[in-house]
Amino acid sequence: MDIRRFQPDNPTIAAIRKVYGPDAQLVSNGPHAFDWKIRKGQQLGNVDFSSVFKALHGPRFVAATFGAAREDWYAIDFDSGRNEILPVMIVANELFGDIARVRTAAYHFRSNILLAQAWYQRQMGRTFSVIGETMTIHSRSTGDQWNAWAHQTSLPNPVPPPPIPNRDVLLREQEGTLHRAFGRRIDTPGTILCVGVFTGKGLSASGFGAANNGIGGHFSGQTPLITEFRAQDYPETHQLNIAAAYSIGHELGHAFGLPHPDTRPDPKDPQSGYSIMGNPTNFFGKAILLNVEKSELMRSPFIR
Ligand SMILES: [Zn+2]
Repeated sequence: MDIRRFQPDNPTIAAIRKVYGPDAQLVSNGPHAFDWKIRKGQQLGNVDFSSVFKALHGPRFVAATFGAAREDWYAIDFDSGRNEILPVMIVANELFGDIARVRTAAYHFRSNILLAQAWYQRQMGRTFSVIGETMTIHSRSTGDQWNAWAHQTSLPNPVPPPPIPNRDVLLREQEGTLHRAFGRRIDTPGTILCVGVFTGKGLSASGFGAANNGIGGHFSGQTPLITEFRAQDYPETHQLNIAAAYSIGHELGHAFGLPHPDTRPDPKDPQSGYSIMGNPTNFFGKAILLNVEKSELMRSPFIR
């Protein structure tokens, strides 16, 4: 993916004047990413970084933060993906101001994706690549709202069913948040977004369940817990550690094109019950990739 760090240098200033007029000045009045302002005469206004980056780098670029600090702005081109996983962390409204906590959660989220990456490597001698930093997205919703949506994914649907099934609510909210942030749907063939939410509610807030975008999407949704779980606090073989790798590995498996084993035509692999794409009887340490899954993954450009 083409990612370019924001610099308040001469070409950027020129782009800002193209967008905001020849007398516009870029100023920062604090350490946070949102502390950048445009000053015109006595007026201070917010910076529309996407417009600035389009003027600077071209129309395919949009603005994103990788963190929440002043220097964490980047111009990115989603359409130049090189078959990599991009960790994307949606941050609850009340937490985005806390630069240090956002940074820490982004680190833990990416570390947990790396658990799943190592799991695939052990299973089939190949795995996926993960982009080096976690993209962060400010959400207008609170941590409590996000946790409620995550909790809904584990509830059965009432009768008559709601317009959006309980288990899809979290995913719809995540997709809507990305759509609003970038002004476009994220359906690019060269990038899979692995999306989690930082709600700041700790490990008790929701389980390790997760949501997915059907088969072969460009988006894999994870529950909030995954941004706060700290694998290094537990032995490598601890059940929580294994569950984290399992849940991310399962959802990414869908994004790579794998179905649940019980939807495959007969004859079924006798090992089906142990597939990471099934639910290995709540004992995730037994999870494996079936031979049919390995050969399908070998055809995915994301597995190298
Ligand atoms: Zn599934």
